[in-house]
Amino acid sequence: MLVNLKTLLTKAYIDKRAVGSFNVYSYETIHGVCKAIKITEKPAIISFGASYMKNMSLECVKSIVDEAVKDMPEDTVLHLDHCRDLKIIKAAIDAGFTSVMYDGSALDFEENIKNTKDVVDMAHAENVSVEAELGKVALGDYSNETDIDSKQAFTNPSSAAEFAERTNIDALAVSIGTVHGMYKGEPNIRIDILKEINAATDIPLVLHGGSGTPKKTLIDCIKNGICKINVNTEISRYTVRKMYKAIEDEPNIHLSKLALLETEFVSESVSEYIRLFYRN
Ligand SMILES: [Zn+2]
Repeated sequence: MLVNLKTLLTKAYIDKRAVGSFNVYSYETIHGVCKAIKITEKPAIISFGASYMKNMSLECVKSIVDEAVKDMPEDTVLHLDHCRDLKIIKAAIDAGFTSVMYDGSALDFEENIKNTKDVVDMAHAENVSVEAELGKVALGDYSNETDIDSKQAFTNPSSAAEFAERTNIDALAVSIGTVHGMYKGEPNIRIDILKEINAATDIPLVLHGGSGTPKKTLIDCIKNGICKINVNTEISRYTVRKMYKAIEDEPNIHLSKLALLETEFVSESVSEYIRLFYRN
């Protein structure tokens, strides 16, 4: 069943677990994520980036997800990832998404608060959750995020508390050194800053840029308040590598067979992350 993000994260936050959030942009990727949820019997978030609207419409995503979650024992969330455009956020809410991310991280503090609050008012009226971002997550290699700022700015813990309180958001994306895409050098994740943010706030925290982050660091993050982790690039890279190999092995493979393999490979990669994140 589709539930909102707040509902799904409340239990994870109390249990100190994280729910994986995985980007989808096709029938195959949606079914890959749903298959992983069924195999692992653990929750995960189906995330559609506003930047993928050239791949699929919001309505198309919703209808495929509805069909895919029909026989699913676990609750899941249909989330709109990184969006700056209030019209698109409204359209996602109208289409039946149960969670939206408003990304005002490029704006100054007061403007980010004002816009985020507007989104919260609009979304909460429809029982839809809101994730917002404070600080900037840098852009790494191979990222597919085209609409975000590339510079890094760590989240300020006391600003985070004020931001959460004044906006009434359901989850806060923080910047503690992860990047969108793969790291250009050695990752330097500031668990010390995360601890301060977690101590200053009482809402679920979100980590963007899970790809390429060492497992030990991810577990450290989960122990310190992160309960939603976004992974995109690494799943794409894994799947493309496996499909490349499948084509090499069988150059005349039919496209329909390749599509089924794509679902399988996405599911393999996503399952591994779900198991890593959602555990005590
Ligand atoms: Zn992100």
